[in-house]
Amino acid sequence: MKASYPHMGTSAIAFRSLCRSLGYEPVQPNPPTQRTLSLGTRYSPEFACIPFKIVLGTYIEVLERGAELLVSGGGKGPCRAGYYGELHQRILNDIGYDCEMVFFWPPLRTPADFLRKVRRFKGGASWTDLYRALRLTWEKLLVLDDLEMKSHRLRPLQRRRGSVTAALESSLDLVDRAVTVDQVREARRMGLARLENVPVHDSEPDDLLKVGVVGEIYVQLEPFANFNLEEKLGDLGVFVKRGLFLTDFARTDILRWGDEAIADVARPYLSENVGGHGQNSIGEIIEYARRGYDGVVQLAPFSCIPEIVAKSIVPALSREWNIPVMTLFIDEQTGRGGVETRLEAFVDLLRSRRRKDEGKAHARISGS
Ligand code: SF4
Repeated sequence: MKASYPHMGTSAIAFRSLCRSLGYEPVQPNPPTQRTLSLGTRYSPEFACIPFKIVLGTYIEVLERGAELLVSGGGKGPCRAGYYGELHQRILNDIGYDCEMVFFWPPLRTPADFLRKVRRFKGGASWTDLYRALRLTWEKLLVLDDLEMKSHRLRPLQRRRGSVTAALESSLDLVDRAVTVDQVREARRMGLARLENVPVHDSEPDDLLKVGVVGEIYVQLEPFANFNLEEKLGDLGVFVKRGLFLTDFARTDILRWGDEAIADVARPYLSENVGGHGQNSIGEIIEYARRGYDGVVQLAPFSCIPEIVAKSIVPALSREWNIPVMTLFIDEQTGRGGVETRLEAFVDLLRSRRRKDEGKAHARISGS
């Protein structure tokens, strides 16, 4: 049977491996393109958020290539993520695709439903096979996250623009080809070595800017949805720290009830969980300010209520914690050129703030 899943950053590499290990023929989704978004937008309700539209477009593309089973998962609200699976399935059926969808809720919330879907997904594979497949998938996810983190650290230091991205892509390919846990670990070692071999400047410049990224998970993880934000900032000489990686999300939001530590930080400003990662965005902005970051980019799908709630608190937060925050609302009308111009202007602003602060510090030192 041909199975597929959404494309969300590098994670598709691990999910291909999961499907293959369980005896499915994976239909690997291509990275989303403008066509994917157009397809999703054509069949989505007008006010659906952009992750919904891109994922729907991805489903249509893999169904065109013969996928029969779609596997996905999501939170259970209170935002619209709770309706994703049901709504996608109905739309796909209405436009003529006779596919099956297995949509997982976090296991702690609906254990019986989770177990029923696990049984369906594992098909004829034994529980031991399932355990092995999950172990391999988890190992791949961990390595994918490690490689991406390494690329974030190196990109602002690269001597030639694009060289870290090229090394990252060839490292991801190693992970994709690994079929045992040992091979995945070897891929990690070789992938990190390839990244470390990229020619970089000898020492970290004193004026290296640090920018944190917060916001909704899909637009954080999928480069098409965020206009390759990490690469763009890295190429501008900025160290980027993303707030979310898929393995962290699995630990906090799938296997537990959310990130309590970050919720505690956010609570004085936003006491309730408003769905998605709205509360996390608040807590993470404060954490970035505490750690001396120069600025934060908040990624918010247009019409995403959790991020709109967070955005309403951002101006006060930014003043109180003295950290500039740029919110990027993203929908199908958002253009790459406009986003890049705004990012360049934001980096200029951060550099000039840094220079002023250094000027003040210098005046204080020389005046004492
Ligand atoms: S968090 Fe926002 S973008 Fe994601 S599903 Fe919920 S409303 Fe949509």
